[in-house]
Amino acid sequence: ALQAGIVGLPNVGKSTLFNAVSNSAKAQASNYRFCTIEPNVGLVDVPDTRISKLEELVKPNRTVPTTMEFVDIAGLVKGASKGEGLGNKFLANIREVDAIVHVIRCFEDDNILRDEGPINPVGDKDIIDTELQLKDLESVEKKVARTEKMARTGGDPKAKVEFEILKRCQEHLEKGKNIRELGLSKEERVAIADLFLLTEKPVLYVANVDEASLHTGNKFSKALEEAVKAENAQVIIMNNSIEAQITELEDPADKELFFAEYGLTEPGLNRLIRSAYKLLDLITYFTAGVQEVRAWTIHTGWKAPQAASVIHTDFEKGFIKAEVISYDDYVKYGSEAAARDNGRLRIEGKEYVVNDGDVMHFRFNV
Ligand code: GDP
Repeated sequence: ALQAGIVGLPNVGKSTLFNAVSNSAKAQASNYRFCTIEPNVGLVDVPDTRISKLEELVKPNRTVPTTMEFVDIAGLVKGASKGEGLGNKFLANIREVDAIVHVIRCFEDDNILRDEGPINPVGDKDIIDTELQLKDLESVEKKVARTEKMARTGGDPKAKVEFEILKRCQEHLEKGKNIRELGLSKEERVAIADLFLLTEKPVLYVANVDEASLHTGNKFSKALEEAVKAENAQVIIMNNSIEAQITELEDPADKELFFAEYGLTEPGLNRLIRSAYKLLDLITYFTAGVQEVRAWTIHTGWKAPQAASVIHTDFEKGFIKAEVISYDDYVKYGSEAAARDNGRLRIEGKEYVVNDGDVMHFRFNV
């Protein structure tokens, strides 16, 4: 499953958020299926009202939502790139995730220790960014040293191109900037993919605000929003303590009261999960049968055979065709049969690019 890593300085509310994630994961596991996960990895359903709607229409034996994983990457401190406080171990953890959720403290509370002086969201972001940049610089410099000679002698034109990309990355990092802001083309990104650069990974920020600022944000979250504009990154305003409390409420009536008290319509966690899913450029298609209604995750732009491969690898090889009903048509006509009778079931071939919400049925050779 795709993973988002939760990072941030100590005492910003990372564990609180992670506990909320893993509590909600546990609650869901009892509804759907049981999952054994490592202590710092929580698996959550991706909230999607469409699957509930399909469940209502099809009344299947079971419903399986799509999931993603959050990894708690605690312990990043100033100096981590130099190995400070087990820094290398934590940085290695970040290398493995698909996206970064950067939690930033935007609440004041004198009882909660802070080594960096007054609350300073942009300064905090810079501390973490700098550590990740230094680590990336180390990787890039190593590769520069390796490719330099090959590029200079000119024997391998590919090496020359690669060398130029690496030099651009190096200069950019030396200026204190993240690789994701460099605007590399798809081809250029492929050329440096083997480095798994930390500052290239897509990021979103959680502004952990005080309760009073839950709906409005505060001066801290606003400063953060201003600072990340250049990165084109999303800032999610939430209160991690409230999120943790929500997941501890088991009784739906209690939950409703709690939501009403804070003027919430859904947990902030849902917003976070959906945003992370979008950040990863993921879409969902559905399979809908009486046995099972299920959501499947694929990347934007995938064609039908590749989309089928997430159900079973054999489906890709033996792919013949797909029967497709758009989600809206499915709901409009209320069933597969009715959609078919109204000419809304399409037969699509190998080149079909799957759309978000497609309800699919694959035909294949075994
Ligand atoms: P971590 O070190 O980033 O994992 O931080 P924790 O999640 O352990 O939180 C550190 C302390 O801050 C704990 O005592 C939390 O209860 C508290 N905390 C977390 N979120 C909030 C918040 O939104 N407001 C306030 N006032 N305290 C919070």
